[in-house]
Amino acid sequence: MTMIRMNNIHKYFAGVHVLKGVSLEVNKGEIISIIGPSGSGKSTLLRCMNQLEKIDQGSVEIEGIVVEAAGDVGVKITATPQEVRTAYRKMGMVFQSFNLFPHMTALGNVIEAPMLVHRLSKGEAVKNAEKQLNKVGLLEKKDAFPSKLSGGQKQRVAIARALAMNPDIMLFDEPTSALDPELIGEVLSVIKNLAQEHMTMIIVTHEMGFAKEISDRVIFMDDGKILEDQSPAVFFDNPRHPRIKTFLEKML
Ligand code: ADP
Ligand code: MG
Repeated sequence: MTMIRMNNIHKYFAGVHVLKGVSLEVNKGEIISIIGPSGSGKSTLLRCMNQLEKIDQGSVEIEGIVVEAAGDVGVKITATPQEVRTAYRKMGMVFQSFNLFPHMTALGNVIEAPMLVHRLSKGEAVKNAEKQLNKVGLLEKKDAFPSKLSGGQKQRVAIARALAMNPDIMLFDEPTSALDPELIGEVLSVIKNLAQEHMTMIIVTHEMGFAKEISDRVIFMDDGKILEDQSPAVFFDNPRHPRIKTFLEKML
């Protein structure tokens, strides 16, 4: 089953061409790492997947529902606005900068969206949130405010918050880039646990060892385009593009 299909996506920021015809399919249960230099369009690609940015051309499908179509792409939105909203809610996103609500406890952060969006009662939302906080190893921190948590703990709360919406797909944008080195492992290990549960995931990362270990496919972006979409074995051990070889050498 195709969870996400992006077809020939173009995106401009103030006339600057940032995505230059990106096409990508993600199948159910696949784990895809996106790697590439700063400014190559990795975050913009994720943000175009979940409507944080509008596309200028191309189409986006989520679980077979066309959620965006722009320009002459031969695809039209046929779903109702409600169906489109429901499709977008299949995706959870985790950001580099955590983006927790600072005035709410860990538990408060995790119950908020399920109550507002899924109309769970507070009791149901708390039960679900405790399950998710337990999954990321932070049940005992449920009453702590973000200011009392380490970066790794904050990011794990952010993951629990995304999971509480019961997503089919998780998007991670450099989830460990803001963390001190000793805190990276605890976040990667939560993501590895999700991999074992066959969560469909797209992960922008600079953690090469992690990407090699966890991914089914590695995508390399350069200058707004996908330069390579490859198995981790070939990507890391036998890269075909000189551009990728140079990039990997710099990362070591
Ligand atoms: P990456 O995540 O690979 O570092 P981004 O997707 O963040 O790259 O950015 C790609 C390009 O788009 C960069 O040149 C960046 O400066 C530009 N860009 C990203 N977001 C915006 C924005 N909101 N407004 C203007 N330019 C942007
Ligand atoms: Mg980025």
